[in-house]
Parts: sequence; C-alpha cells; structure tokens
Amino acid sequence: MSWFRRDDSNIGPGANRVRTEGLWTRCDGCGQTLWKAELEASLQVCPKCGRHGRIGAKARIETLLEPGFELLDGDLRSTDPLQFSDLKPYKSRLKKAQADTGLNDAIVNAQGLLGPHTVVLSVMEYSFIGGSMGAVVGETIARAIDRAHDQRWPLITVAASGGARMMEGIVSLMQLAKVSAALARLDDARVPFISILTDPTTGGVTASFAMLGDLNIAEPGALIGFAGPRVIEQTIRQKLPEGFQRSEFLLQHGFLDAVVSRKDMKAYLIRALDFMQVAKAG
Ligand SMILES: [Zn+2]
Repeated sequence: MSWFRRDDSNIGPGANRVRTEGLWTRCDGCGQTLWKAELEASLQVCPKCGRHGRIGAKARIETLLEPGFELLDGDLRSTDPLQFSDLKPYKSRLKKAQADTGLNDAIVNAQGLLGPHTVVLSVMEYSFIGGSMGAVVGETIARAIDRAHDQRWPLITVAASGGARMMEGIVSLMQLAKVSAALARLDDARVPFISILTDPTTGGVTASFAMLGDLNIAEPGALIGFAGPRVIEQTIRQKLPEGFQRSEFLLQHGFLDAVVSRKDMKAYLIRALDFMQVAKAG
C-alpha cells in the first residue's frame, strides 16, 4: 500500500504526527485511512476516533490568537555551554533543528488577542530536539512571564516536551528553578496563569511550569508525567494501571483541572479568563 504513509518515527520533525506527503494518511489511534485535507481542517485531530496528533508551535498560536498577534523573543540561541557531544555534537543537532523548524530553539513567544483578552502566550515546539528545555527555552519562558507580570496580561503556556535538555547538563536543570521563581512573582502579583499540557509533557517541564498553572488543562490522551512508565514499573516492581500517565487518568486523580479537546480549547480559555475577571482589551 504505497498511497498512504504512516510516520512511526519518534524523533525529528513530524514525530508522531501525520505526514503531509500524499493525499491519504493513517490514524495511529484507530488505524483508519484518513484524507489529509480533512485532518488538517480538524487541526490534526482524527475525525473518526478523536486522537489528537501533534501540531507545531506556530500552528498552535494560530488556533488560539486572533490574526495580528506578534511573535517575540525569537532571537535567543544556545551557546552550547558544555561543548557537548554524544553521537554527534550538540552544535550540529541545534543547526539541524534550526534548519528543520525555522526556529532558534524549542519555543515561540507571542502576544495578542485571545477573544477579547490580551494575553502572553508561550508555546513549545516538540519537533525541536524533543521540545527539551535548555537555557534558551527557560529564558524565553521567563521573558514571557516577566511581560505578563509587567503588563498584567494573563500568561498561557502550551507544553510539549520530553523534559530538560541533557546536552546542557545542569544549566537545563537550573531552568526549573528559574521559571518557577518567576511564576511565583506572577502569582504574588495576582496575574492569571493557565498551563496547557499537550502530548507529551514529561520530565523537568512537568516538574516546573507545566504543573504550576492557576488552571492546568490537558488535551485528550496526552502523555503527562515525570519519569516514564518503564522506569516506574522497574522501581516499584508493580504493573501500572490502564491509562496511567494519560490526561484522563490524571484528571480523575486530581492532577489536572480539565481535559479539553483542541477545537474547544480557545472557547474554554476565553471563558476561564472571563471568570478570572481580567480587564478586557479595547
Ligand atoms: Zn483515529
């Protein structure tokens, strides 16, 4: 069957996302053959089973903000502080990710209107080295938080990340404390912060800003956790329950405030911000 392609890779751009070559593709959730154009129209959500595929940071921003939004802080680049090299040098990984995504790192900041509310939005890009958080991602989020703080505009983050960026060693771990401290200031100033968790949100991102929202909202079926299930099973020597570390399970066990589908997310956010009595723009 050569007329559709399924993307089974878990690394690189397009990971776990439906390929855009050809007219047809197959859903990783239900296995049904889908028309690519239909899938794009539904924001990469399978019309048959509702499986939420990944979407890039810029596409995500377009689903949330009104036209005319501004992209910010895109000029920061990693300095490769450890001169790190594993299978290949970190510098060449960065270069490739930059060429593939058109971004300098795994995050895009924006400000603009979400319905009637001016918001600061910070969105992670999973296809940039697994959405990992190094110094640039940490600093970019910190700038978004500072902007929200100074302007008193609500902050919304969209997480999609494998966690801390190992190639930056302890520098990446410092980002957890840095963004958490900035969020504490935002909290003291009583400026709303809504965290959206998408597939996957794991490691140091879960262990810092992604779980610190006034509201923590996930997309359906997203993998959310700190350590992976295999590590946990080996450590506690027990079989994990069905659906462990998925949005619905976490909602049931009190780790999330809501699970909201992609098509309903914008309306949900507007309603939440209305409720938080944020001053309306205009
Ligand atoms: Zn499906």
